[in-house]
Amino acid sequence: MNIGVLGGGQLARMLAQAGRPLGLKFMFLCPDPQACAITFGEHLCAGFDDEASLTQLAQWADVVTYEFENVPVQSVEFLERYVEVHPSSTALAVAQDRLVEKRRFRALDIPTAEFSEANSLHDLEAAVVAIGLPAILKTRTQGYDGKGQGVLRTRRDLAPTWTALGGVPCIVEALVPFEREVSIIAARSACGAKVFYPLSENHHRDGILRLSLSRVEIGAQGRAEALIGRLLDDLDYVGVLTLELFQCGDALLANEIAPRVHNSGHWTIEGARTSQFENHLRAILGYPLGDTAITRPSAMVNIIGTLPPALAESVPACSALHAYGKAERPGRKIGHLTLLCANCEDTEFRECLAHCLALTGEAELAKRVRTG
Ligand code: AMP
Repeated sequence: MNIGVLGGGQLARMLAQAGRPLGLKFMFLCPDPQACAITFGEHLCAGFDDEASLTQLAQWADVVTYEFENVPVQSVEFLERYVEVHPSSTALAVAQDRLVEKRRFRALDIPTAEFSEANSLHDLEAAVVAIGLPAILKTRTQGYDGKGQGVLRTRRDLAPTWTALGGVPCIVEALVPFEREVSIIAARSACGAKVFYPLSENHHRDGILRLSLSRVEIGAQGRAEALIGRLLDDLDYVGVLTLELFQCGDALLANEIAPRVHNSGHWTIEGARTSQFENHLRAILGYPLGDTAITRPSAMVNIIGTLPPALAESVPACSALHAYGKAERPGRKIGHLTLLCANCEDTEFRECLAHCLALTGEAELAKRVRTG
């Protein structure tokens, strides 16, 4: 079977790696001539809106998918006229607009932070009267890795933050005093079958994910499954979907969805019976979904910006190293490490994790892991 992918980054690359044992062939449509996935298949080097290349992809592929949510909805709608595309353009359109997304959550009775639309500075001023401060202002579209947002602590922050975000349509949300950030990844096939991965606990710095821990003992699993299950059915979703949540006491508040495989699920390659990448492929191909059970608790540490010197020699034996073959650049995700253990609370494991965090420049997180 031939799989077409919009995008050629590390998520596309790991999809193709998972597809090899399934005998799948890949073609990537992506404007970057050095995209890191392209060694795993054919490359159409063109913009996502290039109709000739979209047509070529549709003619070649049995099914098309995408690896990130900022591909134009129009391109997915164009492809849908000629070839099966999963997830659908409807799901993509919801994920691309934070306001539409939050309204969908609300319509499905999925709890969120208080939020309001802000199309002008005047709207923003009125919104913070209703929501209160601190709050967070986010552009409705094009935000990722903490970009396109700013925290509002006092009324003096409103005008500069509004201007800094470009005066574009925004959403303003109450700043949630969460205890931790978690994500749940699930897959649904066209017949409505669903599987769920255990929650990941996620740690960010400067808006970028640094560490994900899969912890079987997190109590919120059942509630998170019910929330993402509602979204999957409502969107008649096919493929892997990620829901990012804030945990505050017993409450889970939905932050956003990603209509794709997700960085917080990279641990599933070594830590689950079937990886998120394989399950995405299974779902979009109509194959039975694979077992999501954890084989061993794991932790995933992102490698951001530069590969630490002598990384290969200093990586602990209990870990798997993934380097994506991308050029080094500040803030860029260029690889990750997955550590596997018998028990996440084990001192030896914590020491090993702290070592990996220190290797990747996360001294503060390393300290927190060491001290528990
Ligand atoms: P997002 O782009 O919505 O995923 O936001 C990036 C990061 O900003 C999240 O991972 C949180 O750490 C933080 N954040 C976003 N929205 C809120 C909120 N309403 N309250 C508190 N923190 C937030």
